[in-house]
Amino acid sequence: MDEVLTSTLQRAVFGRLDYLERLADEGDQQSKAVLADSEIARLTGAFRALLAVHAPDELGRCRSCTAGPWRRRVRCTVWKAAYRHLVGDTADRTTPAGRHSLRKPARQPT
Ligand SMILES: [Zn+2]
Repeated sequence: MDEVLTSTLQRAVFGRLDYLERLADEGDQQSKAVLADSEIARLTGAFRALLAVHAPDELGRCRSCTAGPWRRRVRCTVWKAAYRHLVGDTADRTTPAGRHSLRKPARQPT
């Protein structure tokens, strides 16, 4: 995609997002109801399409995002961003994570 087309698409998409945010923030109740009826399905459809493009392969690497001179598939951040924005960053943090998470706790002195 050339630069002009890319910037035109970006302006159009950001313009639409700005419009929707303004309507959600400043619109009257009727406008917000119409917005919810029409735009939520549209936005969820867009999100699903984006996530499908970035679906991980069998090794957990993105089918679309590549890096390096050999254009290796990488673990992209689209799914992490989707999780953070849609589900939240409120995962149970009391559960230890990482490779030592399954280790039995040290025995307490008696
Ligand atoms: Zn990706």
